[in-house]
Amino acid sequence: MRSALITLLFFIVPLMASTVNELSWPKEKTFLQFLEDHNVSQSLYYNLDEDDKEMVEMIFAGMEYHTLTSDTNQLLQALIPITEELQISIFEDQGNYKLEFVPVQYDIIRENISFELKTSLLNDLKSITGNSKLALELHAIFKDAIDFRRDLREGDRISVIYKRKLRLGRTWGIPEVEAAYIETHRKKHYAFYDEKAEGYFDEKAKPVQGMFLKYPLKWSRISSPFSSRRLHPILNEYRAHNGIDYAAPVGTPVWSVANGKAIYVGQKGGYGKTVVIQHKNGYLTKYAHLKGYAHGVRRGDYIKQGQIVGYVGNTGLSTGPHLHFGLYKGRVAINPAHIRGIKKDGLTGEHRRTYMAHVTTQMDTLHYYAENLTGGVTRIASLSYSENPGISR
Ligand SMILES: [Zn+2]
Repeated sequence: MRSALITLLFFIVPLMASTVNELSWPKEKTFLQFLEDHNVSQSLYYNLDEDDKEMVEMIFAGMEYHTLTSDTNQLLQALIPITEELQISIFEDQGNYKLEFVPVQYDIIRENISFELKTSLLNDLKSITGNSKLALELHAIFKDAIDFRRDLREGDRISVIYKRKLRLGRTWGIPEVEAAYIETHRKKHYAFYDEKAEGYFDEKAKPVQGMFLKYPLKWSRISSPFSSRRLHPILNEYRAHNGIDYAAPVGTPVWSVANGKAIYVGQKGGYGKTVVIQHKNGYLTKYAHLKGYAHGVRRGDYIKQGQIVGYVGNTGLSTGPHLHFGLYKGRVAINPAHIRGIKKDGLTGEHRRTYMAHVTTQMDTLHYYAENLTGGVTRIASLSYSENPGISR
């Protein structure tokens, strides 16, 4: 894969002696400092339009990036990822530097990991894979089905089929779990990803996860619970409080608790800056008193579970920075404290039949590895080299 990068770079500068440098973006380094370090005019940044400037600001600390430098240490090209799919390319062209956004190139492979639990899912997976990414994914999949502290014991068997990306020979981005099996002393747990339903289901096509995440933000305390009657702190009259208020500092990210469609993004009376998302089965969630909206979140947009939609603020009728979080079924307000009890629908009909056929094969593979534990990783397939996924802007 290293050769792929070099090819890409050398395509631009075929004849110069040069070095590829693999680097990690330092904390608090700005893009302007980066340009200065390499004697590149800051006009490269200032000449960008506003959207492109915002994209450049998405560079974050710890991101692995590459530069190509000449034998006199002149910058010939830099490739700086800003998301899993998109990177900034800076290159020298006839004495001038140019900036473009280009797709990140990566391979996709499918692997199985199978082992007997020794300490904890997190520790064991960290020592096998070198990072905690897969453990976090498994935790998110099974958190409604398994109590990871109580249910898991030494000797429990785990077998997982997942896809991961390789960029320049290294793990890139978040692994995607396709099928997982956790056998505890009590129960066999299965999870299979279904693309059409965008979620995980078990061996009987029942949902493994609840429909919603428990919370839409990291909060410090509940400043006002759900109630059918409370004294409004500003209006000084009794009113229903159709949601939960979570106190948190201004700017705290707020995410959508489920997949859905943004049906409202804007000022909404006493709620101030508000986002409303419509979910399956007639559910709505409301995120109010926001300071502002996340970049690119507009009315009509499809929103993923966990996607940041805005930031905690104090807009509208609000006595201090907090998020008002509302949950509705149709027009009826539901107490968000009960959100975890709301289940997704199981698969039915033709959809279920297709799913079950696929699951039968997946189960065979999971069991095969669970019975012939490797204690590590087995590559099942190399799927593809990234076909230019397009530049999303
Ligand atoms: Zn409220």
